[in-house]
Amino acid sequence: NLTDPAEDNRTVVSGAPQTERAIAAEARNVVVDFHGHKAVNGVDLELARGEVVALIGPSGSGKSTLLRTFNHLQEPTSGEILIDGKPTTGSSRIDLLALRRKVGMCFQSFNLFPHLTALENIELAQVHALGRSRKEASARGRELLKRVGLETKADHKPASCSGGQQQRIAIARALALDPEVMLFDEPTSALDPELGVEVLNVMRELAESGMTMMVATHEMHFAEDVADRVIFMADGQILESGAPSVVLRAPQHERTQKFLQAVI
Ligand code: ADP
Ligand code: MG
Repeated sequence: NLTDPAEDNRTVVSGAPQTERAIAAEARNVVVDFHGHKAVNGVDLELARGEVVALIGPSGSGKSTLLRTFNHLQEPTSGEILIDGKPTTGSSRIDLLALRRKVGMCFQSFNLFPHLTALENIELAQVHALGRSRKEASARGRELLKRVGLETKADHKPASCSGGQQQRIAIARALALDPEVMLFDEPTSALDPELGVEVLNVMRELAESGMTMMVATHEMHFAEDVADRVIFMADGQILESGAPSVVLRAPQHERTQKFLQAVI
């Protein structure tokens, strides 16, 4: 018997495998200070695996800045971001690249390369960041284009696609790196409502597939229907966090009430 007894013990432990952690991403007392202005002012937030969180709040409340700390597009001034239970501050650059791959992000502006086709946009990072062969990257790209309903657009440049299609290509591109967490920063704000719906439907399917997601959004219907939890931010702080039915229908905080009256 060549089995290492220690190894054996680990497999015998009952319940969930030990490698499976309940918390996918976590902010611990995160502060982002821009020249004396705290855009994020002491945020504690745990994102459970498979959880969908909608981040709402007035413009300037720190939603984008907070999202960006989760993949270190923005370094926290103090506090800590943990991904998969591992602290990410003070990480080496190599670790940071690995981290960014675990945390995919989609922005309001789709940021596709205009001179590349939809498929090439999706292939690029797979080849450069994951070292996949062009053939593998292409196969995965086509699979994801199909998933977002755009298999016929593979060879089209972004300019010949609608805004909703471009955002779906951007989602496919982020998914191609097999992220564990997906962050969305107002992914439909730049879109006409009918095109936003296409994007929201793709996000809804992604949520139903079990993806861990945090979505800064003004789409209260999406927050209510899809999110497991709604977080209201104001002045860089979380003022309220809870089930959509509570935060959106029976908010406790006056700031939340005022915000919802203005947007609904
Ligand atoms: P939201 O996404 O909720 O609209 P942001 O995170 O974009 O809020 O901004 C929060 C605050 O931080 C705002 O006051 C904004 O002007 C400020 N801010 C955001 N990014 C920067 C930056 N790079 N430099 C200086 N101030 C910034
Ligand atoms: Mg923002």
